[in-house]
Amino acid sequence: MRGRSGHAWRELVRLLCPPGSYCQVDECEYPSREILFDLRPRHPQGPSLDHIVELWEGGAEEDPDNLQPAHLRCNVLKSARRRAEHRAALTLATQRATRVTAMDEQPRPKRSAQAFDPD
Ligand SMILES: [Zn+2]
Repeated sequence: MRGRSGHAWRELVRLLCPPGSYCQVDECEYPSREILFDLRPRHPQGPSLDHIVELWEGGAEEDPDNLQPAHLRCNVLKSARRRAEHRAALTLATQRATRVTAMDEQPRPKRSAQAFDPD
């Protein structure tokens, strides 16, 4: 089985995020950065592997060069942040494109005609 719930992935976590690892996410939520082990599964401060380049950005899924130790919570937050940034960038690009199109289609109002109303 492939994918991050499978045996191969757990092996990678064990290998690349062993006890004593520190969270490598820049915006780590925990001052000590120490990853905690032997907690309940999916604990926020427990071990996980963060994809430096996210999979949806074209990052390699199981390449150790693209993986770094991270708290589970930092990993999840980082992914959410990256997605939000990506969405915002897309929205901005769409808005710019729309604005450019709108400017092309509409004639510019004549400045002098509306700025001044002699009475
Ligand atoms: Zn962290």
